[in-house]
Amino acid sequence: MNNEIYLDGNATTCILPAAALAAADIMGQRYGNPSSSHGTGLRAKVVLDQARQCAVRLLGVGDGRLMFNSGATEGIQTAVLSALVAVRERQARGEATGSMLVYGATEHKAVPEALAHWNRLLGTNLKLTALAVDGDGLHDLAALRALAPDAAMICTMAANNETGVVSDLDGIAATIAASGTSALWMVDCVQALGKLQLNLAATRIDYAPFSGHKLHAPKGVGMLYVRAGAPFTPLIMGGGQEAGQRSGTENMAGIAALGVVLAALERGDTFPSHDRLHGYRERLAEALRAALPGVVFNNTFDKSLPTTINFAVPGVSSRELMDVLDAARVRVSAGSACSASKAAPSYVLDAMGLPLWRSAGAIRMSFGAMVDEATIATACQRIAHCGAALRAAGMIADQPSAEPDDGLLQLGVEGECGWLVLDAASRSCIVIDPLPTLTARITAIVRGHNYRVLAIVATTAGADHAPLVRSLGAHYDAQAMTDAFGWPAITAHRLALGDGAEVNAIAIGSQVLAQVSAGEGAHAYLLGSKDGASLTAAGVRFAFTAHADLALPVITTAQTLLCPTRDARNQLCAGHGGDHAAADLQLDSSALAAFLQAHPGAVVVDVREPYEFAATVPAPAGAHAAQSVPLSRLVEHASLWLRGDSHAPLVFVCRSGSRSMKAAQCLRRLGHTSSYSLTGGLALAA
Ligand code: PLP
Repeated sequence: MNNEIYLDGNATTCILPAAALAAADIMGQRYGNPSSSHGTGLRAKVVLDQARQCAVRLLGVGDGRLMFNSGATEGIQTAVLSALVAVRERQARGEATGSMLVYGATEHKAVPEALAHWNRLLGTNLKLTALAVDGDGLHDLAALRALAPDAAMICTMAANNETGVVSDLDGIAATIAASGTSALWMVDCVQALGKLQLNLAATRIDYAPFSGHKLHAPKGVGMLYVRAGAPFTPLIMGGGQEAGQRSGTENMAGIAALGVVLAALERGDTFPSHDRLHGYRERLAEALRAALPGVVFNNTFDKSLPTTINFAVPGVSSRELMDVLDAARVRVSAGSACSASKAAPSYVLDAMGLPLWRSAGAIRMSFGAMVDEATIATACQRIAHCGAALRAAGMIADQPSAEPDDGLLQLGVEGECGWLVLDAASRSCIVIDPLPTLTARITAIVRGHNYRVLAIVATTAGADHAPLVRSLGAHYDAQAMTDAFGWPAITAHRLALGDGAEVNAIAIGSQVLAQVSAGEGAHAYLLGSKDGASLTAAGVRFAFTAHADLALPVITTAQTLLCPTRDARNQLCAGHGGDHAAADLQLDSSALAAFLQAHPGAVVVDVREPYEFAATVPAPAGAHAAQSVPLSRLVEHASLWLRGDSHAPLVFVCRSGSRSMKAAQCLRRLGHTSSYSLTGGLALAA
């Protein structure tokens, strides 16, 4: 569908066609309430019973409980509630219970959040303690040995959603048994269903939640296994459905569909074998190695599910990788889906002790059990296509690019950014406030274009540029004398400013960069063109500062854009214009044609990065109509758009509507009153 290659199976999966038919049948034909004793109800009840019997056999439930519910998050709540109610009863009787709630450091957030919630609500007052994992993501059994005797509950997932790492459940079980603890043990089996052999009643596991939508059943249906004899308290009371264990009329469409998936698993004739899945992953990994030189895999393949790859590429952020793959219609996620909207490092990879760039730059590629040969082949082709697009944009520096690069480049990570002033004619550049996370990226650009770095300067004193200097090698003169801000002593010359003061400046192409004081321990840098021998306020196009609210009167004008390093409000840049950001910024895609007709001078500006254009599948329709100004170049263009008196309307577009919104807001703040963002971006227009 849509020509898209869906490689985000750990987030959710498509519905098995036979399961969708079963859901439709239940909704259309067998719509009875399974609690009704008439024929219509009985016809629905058969489906419910068959699904349960299949689950009981497949999971080895034995004489334990197996209830249907809304999904794993609910199952986790029920398990935690059940365990903590039992703990509270023992506490009330004055019995020892252990003082800790131990959970694997890489658990899905639903687990620690549920533990904290019910611990607070029930007043059990236990201490939440994270169980460390090793570099492969496996639980530290020595640490568990030390914690288990004082644990009231232990939660360890069967397989991790971000890395696919398969836990050593036998080792954990043996450690728990040897400790003699009475702790209750929950194993989140969400990612294991259909991928690992489970025989639950034969284990010491007390609670095991499952979710349908991770294995080709719909969202909103799941199961919870509870060991025979393990404490149980219903989360939802009411009509007594599910043998009184989970009230509420059953989600029959979901259960019927899940029943079909479970039956397919039991028959073993629908999903590819493990060997085949391993082969698919190896082909994807090979395609990634070939397309993205330097790629590192964050999961050890022989210790993880065959359906998951977690990787990072030096110098390319997870946002950039997501964007280029998404343009090629390859759907993956950055870290885990739940935190994909934030550029935060992955807590799972952090817990494994991986360096920040690998954790913050991680991409998860995961496929569902319905994947086929053709999907993998197309995925590999598109990965190659994305690699070529990134290389052409100078983002991967395996070979110097013939294309020189020019102008002002903003390299941002949420809330903070660095700036690169590039001059193609002299093949030189200046780096301003390089963040440590940008080292590989800046190196790739400089090496890729074979530029000389004239200076690496900071807006605050004492910044450590040593790693970047080392990484740049021969492209920067590491021996040159600099001040505490990295400002070079030799190449700088004296220059008069608009207020008559004389400051140090460096020439870069036809422009100059001047260093001015910006208060205690801080400097600002002015970039502009000289008027004769001096840099007048009118000639200053950009002022690089630590914060956006720094005022530099007399030496700059209202036309000067303030380019901050710390950009907590995500403004890109600031100016002296009025704030017109609030009102009617959004333009609906259905209204675009009429808007363009009413405003013939309007310019549509696509703020996606060049590698996204290059990777787009299929080639962007009507792209010729839009001017390409990547968001990383917006500040430079903003300075030009604002200079003219008549501000032609600007309609910004991007993939999802988020970057275009940022751009439109930025222009409004700078005083360009007719800038708009296309709501929902190209994703909705496509
Ligand atoms: N546990 C793990 C390991 C998961 O991957 C997920 C899914 O995001 C959940 C729990 C929550 O499952 P559900 O979406 O069914 O509530």
